Amino acid sequence: GAVDMEVDMMVLGAGPGGYSAAFRSADLGLKTVLVERYGTLGGVCLNVGCIPSKALLHNAAVIDEVAHLASNGIKFGKPEVDIDGLRGYKEKVINKLTGGLAGMAKMRKVEHVRGIGTFLDANHIEVQLTSGTGKDLTGEKKVIKFAKAIIAAGSQAVKLPFIPNDPRIVDSTGALELKSVPKRMLIIGGGIIGLEMGTVYSTLGARLDVVELSDGLMQGADRDLVKVWQDWNKHRFDNIMLQSKTTSIEPKEDGIWVTFEGPKVPSEPQCYDLVLYSTGRSPNGKKIGAENAGVIVDERGFIAVDKQMRTNVPHIFAIGDLVGQPMLAHKAVHEAHVAAENAADHKAYFDARVIPGVAYTDPEVAWVGLTEDQAKKEGIKITKGVFPWAASGRAIANGRDEGFTKLIFDAENGQILGGAIVGPHAGDMIGEICLGIEMGADAVDIGKTIHPHPTMGESIGMAAEVAKGVCT
Ligand code: FAD
Repeated sequence: GAVDMEVDMMVLGAGPGGYSAAFRSADLGLKTVLVERYGTLGGVCLNVGCIPSKALLHNAAVIDEVAHLASNGIKFGKPEVDIDGLRGYKEKVINKLTGGLAGMAKMRKVEHVRGIGTFLDANHIEVQLTSGTGKDLTGEKKVIKFAKAIIAAGSQAVKLPFIPNDPRIVDSTGALELKSVPKRMLIIGGGIIGLEMGTVYSTLGARLDVVELSDGLMQGADRDLVKVWQDWNKHRFDNIMLQSKTTSIEPKEDGIWVTFEGPKVPSEPQCYDLVLYSTGRSPNGKKIGAENAGVIVDERGFIAVDKQMRTNVPHIFAIGDLVGQPMLAHKAVHEAHVAAENAADHKAYFDARVIPGVAYTDPEVAWVGLTEDQAKKEGIKITKGVFPWAASGRAIANGRDEGFTKLIFDAENGQILGGAIVGPHAGDMIGEICLGIEMGADAVDIGKTIHPHPTMGESIGMAAEVAKGVCT
């Protein structure tokens, strides 16, 4: 058939993985095209994920902090929330970033072909051009011939089959639209995304219920961290239903009626104005015609790759949410660079020792590497250093000394294996522990590094000192 365009590199999907891969490819001299169905670059993360959620969480945290000042003798009135204004702020944040990406693409002569891509074979992709919201097809097509490709088609929210269609039942994208503030909100799935959105809605006035299948919220983090977050946030929740599930969800005129099953659930059906389902995300691997290119996709939609991010077809790479857990933007970006560098015949490997995780709740919960729970379970001998923020001058001055910093060291050689922080700005601090782990730092390196005083960051140095037994 006819070819409309011929390039060195075709990147499918313009999320943090895709745009990073395209930019690095172009910087390394490859003529690069970026195929993305939506009008803006940035994917889930910029448009309906990391960034808009943080724009809303920032406002929520300021509202909560201002309310907190009452106990310091400073009182403000009840906040007047203009929901259109707040939504507008969120949109402005997104537009600034997606606009910036468009500029960076242009500067590198990376063309955005706007449409839905389907592989025809291992060197051709057909793009059905889109307009409007990204779902509208213009009816036109473009066939692109490529020498190499990087698949970065990302993931989408899992909708369990028993969840009915109703505008009051939303996934994270629907929740971020912030149409109104419900009085009662149910979160199905107590992971990071659900709890972040719950924080926003609760600060704006909603009462929260959460139902979670496992035995605790925020799985993946040590339970002692989660406890601090949960104690601080008790006031937001009417019911935290663990080891529980919904047995029916029924939209009625007066609300969404839900029944539950579990050890401590209300026996009567409960009525909600908003139900958020946040029970995980599934990769988009089955929706791109990968089989036509000979790329193997597993039954869940993941694509397997090697350390160079190559699929089973050597000139086709895959990165981001599509290649596996953790589904995080910073992982996608690093994989993107590895894939692009290999495609440009540089030698690179994805060889991260650790990938940090952060819940941007209030307080923030951040962890990286070996957790204490994991060490216990696997019988790994560790030395632990914990520094409670109740002993941090800065945390006390800020009125936020509920948190702590914990470092996990190899009991034999003292090398740092993991770390965890709960408290405001924990996510901004965890990077230092990542660096320590990547560089093989030990408790002496970290403890002897002079951290600025008074900061919450110095709690990392102090925790290392505690582990050395110097200051107990
Ligand atoms: P995506 O961002 O999913 O991008 C894939 C792109 O490919 C999409 O734009 C899609 O339209 C496009 N596409 C797919 N198929 C086709 C096709 N056939 N043709 C054309 N285009 C196609 N991660 C963090 O690290 N920190 C956070 O704080 C954070 N917060 C989050 C909050 C929410 C509410 C959500 C939902 C996610 C959050 N994440 C966060 C996860 C993060 O958004 C993802 O890990 C990240 O976006 C994955 O990047 P990606 O490049 O793999 O794919």
